[in-house]
Amino acid sequence: MRCEICGETINGEPLRTKIDGSVMVVCEKCSKFGKIQKAPPVPKTFAKNGQKDKNQNQYKPRPMYSIDEPTDDLVEDFNTLVREKREKMGLSREQLGAKINEKASVVSRIESGKMTPDTKLAQKLEKTLKIKLLEEVGGFNLEEFKSSRSGGSTLGDIVKIKRR
Ligand SMILES: [Zn+2]
Repeated sequence: MRCEICGETINGEPLRTKIDGSVMVVCEKCSKFGKIQKAPPVPKTFAKNGQKDKNQNQYKPRPMYSIDEPTDDLVEDFNTLVREKREKMGLSREQLGAKINEKASVVSRIESGKMTPDTKLAQKLEKTLKIKLLEEVGGFNLEEFKSSRSGGSTLGDIVKIKRR
């Protein structure tokens, strides 16, 4: 490669140097006439930022039914289920409340749909009333599957276990 100014063969690294507004590839000696450009200019379209920030702005919080833990995997008619099953079992709101360590007013609010039980409370209600209030999100537990796999189980076995 030859120097664009003196025309001599460049020994070593050719230097991109800005001289009088234009960038030229010159030898070390001639680079002193201008300003050395360290790296080729990066086109603006490849700028690092931009896309990431856009995604962050698109984030929308999930709608919450309760100020406490969001329980969006709760079945829709949980209040009806609780009331019907409680009545079937012949329990008063006070009696059910005592079983789940909650006040009768809490039971009343859950049954009227004014309050959404958090996961913990929903599980207590499930156990006490033997009903299903929480829907399995995703349904299939990969970690469980993996650990079962090492024990010799197949996917078919796990499906059978889950259905039981
Ligand atoms: Zn030169």
